[in-house]
Parts: sequence; C-alpha cells; structure tokens
Amino acid sequence: MILGVHVSGAGKIYQALDVAHSLGCDTMQIFSRSPQTWRNGSQISPDDIKEFKFRRKKLKINPVFIHISYLINLASPDIRLWRGSIQAYIEDIREAEKLGVDYIVTHMGSHKDTSEDAGIKRLIEALNIIIEKTKGSKVGILLENTSGSGSWLGYRFYHQHKILKGINEKTRVGLCLDTAHAYLAGYDLAVKEGLDKMIDEIESMVGVKLIKLIHLNDAAGELGCHHDRHDHIGKGNIGLAGMKRIINHPKLKNIPMILETPKSAADSDKKNLDLVRRLGRR
Ligand SMILES: [Zn+2]
Repeated sequence: MILGVHVSGAGKIYQALDVAHSLGCDTMQIFSRSPQTWRNGSQISPDDIKEFKFRRKKLKINPVFIHISYLINLASPDIRLWRGSIQAYIEDIREAEKLGVDYIVTHMGSHKDTSEDAGIKRLIEALNIIIEKTKGSKVGILLENTSGSGSWLGYRFYHQHKILKGINEKTRVGLCLDTAHAYLAGYDLAVKEGLDKMIDEIESMVGVKLIKLIHLNDAAGELGCHHDRHDHIGKGNIGLAGMKRIINHPKLKNIPMILETPKSAADSDKKNLDLVRRLGRR
C-alpha cells in the first residue's frame, strides 16, 4: 500500500514532508499556495526548494502531489477568469517542476450557466494550451472526478472520456479518483455491485490504468446528493466494509492513496491512516 495524507500548509513547504514522515506516510499531497487566494507574487525561494528536495529524498516521500487552487476554473465562461486560470495553472506546473513534484491534481472546472458541452470544450482548449506551454515538463496532470455540485464537470466518467479525446498530447494526463466525490455523485461504493459498476465504467470510458492517485475519503452526504463533504474513514456512508473493499480491490490497491479526511482533532490523520493500514492488511 502506498499511503499518505493531504498536509495543510503552514510554515515552510519542506515542513510538510516532516509532518508526512511523522505520520508514517509513503506519499503526500500539498497545496501549492493558499487554496482560496490567487498567487500573491511570492515564490518559493531557491533555498527552500533545495531543502524540500533534500528532505524528500531522506524521508522517502514518493510520489508527491500538488492540489491546485479552488479558484482555478479552466472551464469558466468568463474569459478573464479562464485566461487567469490558465496562467496560474502554468505557473503551478513550473513551480511543481522546480520542486520535483510528480503530479498536479485539479478539479475539472465548472461551466457556470452555460452547458456541460461548452464547459468541456473550454476545458479541453485550456488543457491543450497548458500542455503546449509546459512542453517537456515531467509534471503529470491529474483530472479529479467531482461530486457534481453546482455546475462542476467530471461527476460522470463520460466527461473524462470526452476531455481525454480532445487532448492532443495525452502522455502527461491521468486521473485522480476521489471515492467520496464518486459516492456523492451517485456511484454506490458502499456495496460491491456499486464499486464494480464504477470500475467497469472507468475501464470502458478511460481505462483504470490512467488512475495515478486515489483520494481515499468517506462521504458525509447521501448517495447522489452532489454535496461535496468528506468524512472520516468508515464513519461516513461508504462505511467500513465499503472502504475496506476499495482499499483491497485488485485494480486499485497498488495506486497511491491520499486521505483528505476531516482534521477535526489533532490525531485525526493518525487515526484514519492507522485504520486504513489495518483494513489493508485484512
Ligand atoms: Zn479530492
């Protein structure tokens, strides 16, 4: 099992590695910047980059994922926001490249009051520009499925299928599978049939081998409610048996898993990680 947690960023970027290591993580995810604000112009210093690389090697945290800001909307009908999102995304990839980070994770954008087809078209165009402008970069781009709240795209794997079809240079593009989002979007991962059905759908639409990361979260809302709310492992509606089935599924168990479960208490991450490890051992 390759297991880790999302480390929220206080202090220096390299300190996130210490947190991940202290929790016994193999892998981790961080935000590249404050997730709710646009870039403030400050960049990570060369010394901090050096220290990040040094500690990462020493602590053996692999792979490392960066989650993109929630403000970035590559499917936005607002041309200024769309262009700004592309620019911010490119800057994030360049920063990830400098840090030696493996993947950028992104929600698939929201079409606002236009149509899903129009949103998907803008998203494809944006990704083609981003990939072209960061040509030669080793940083992979992972498209994360959503719960489908509001006008967010990516709550059916048909969307990912259409997007991948439209991307000219596909080698750097993969998927992130968020289990809570899938459940909240209507895939019943609490039962075996629901999990099998989702995996079959992913297999036929895009291919499970494109999943490079699993956001392993339980779901705090009802099946198909489209509200994006994560829960502690085993405490939500996917439940203990459902989470155990996901963790041990032969097609999923070797994919890196990152917890984005609530940090309601100081030991929440530790408890959730311990539980996942126990479930993984069977
Ligand atoms: Zn997620």
